[in-house]
Amino acid sequence: MARQFFVGGNFKMNGTIGGIKDIVKHLSEAKVDPNTEVVISPPSLYLLLTRENLRSGIEVAAQNVFDKPNGAFTGEISVSQLKDSGITWTILGHSERRTILQEKDDFVASKTKVALEGGISVILCIGESLEQREVGKTNEVVLSQLAAVAKEVKDWSKIVIAYEPIWAIGTGKVATTEQAQEVHAAIREWLGKELGQDVADKTRIIYGGSVSEKNCRDLAKEKDIDGFLVGGASLKPAFVDIINAKQ
Ligand code: PEP
Repeated sequence: MARQFFVGGNFKMNGTIGGIKDIVKHLSEAKVDPNTEVVISPPSLYLLLTRENLRSGIEVAAQNVFDKPNGAFTGEISVSQLKDSGITWTILGHSERRTILQEKDDFVASKTKVALEGGISVILCIGESLEQREVGKTNEVVLSQLAAVAKEVKDWSKIVIAYEPIWAIGTGKVATTEQAQEVHAAIREWLGKELGQDVADKTRIIYGGSVSEKNCRDLAKEKDIDGFLVGGASLKPAFVDIINAKQ
């Protein structure tokens, strides 16, 4: 079953008006693999600017969204506000939000449910810490993060799962192809057992953690790696090479 290769760019809290315009121009003019689905995620302040300047065919994601429709929630943005601005995706559950902002599994699940119900597709991030990996708890951690979402969400067709080991994010320490494939395979097996073979076959599971133009091609050869979520390298021209990793 062929799953479309997916590459997301997470700018995190980086960029300026000028810098983001440059990235968007570069990406809009670049020769990107037409078989790859590409989504970029600037800080919320620059979502509209990005959407307005980016060529069609490349989508834009928020880095977060709140689980209430509107009201007195200072600092948050809603699903309907994203839709109103032409934004079709959101990242949820990024480890920086789970660890620094203490977001719990059930909150991530609630936001995922609300985003999907409002027509926003979700890049759902899961991943273990170094300590958890070292005590052999990788699968237990990532599968329980997934199970929390599965309690709330039945339709997985608008979810891309991003497996992002925390120890590999922004560290330059990429998971080996074997380490990544092993967890992706465990996730796919869990999807099959818990949600059915169709969900397992169709759901994209992408890898994130120090992906670069140097390591992307080997990772992309693994059978259960359906693309990447890219942080640091998404701000650089080499992001295009990562998008084209399957060519
Ligand atoms: C990320 O923030 O999702 C990420 C994977 O970052 P980096 O590529 O910089 O490790």
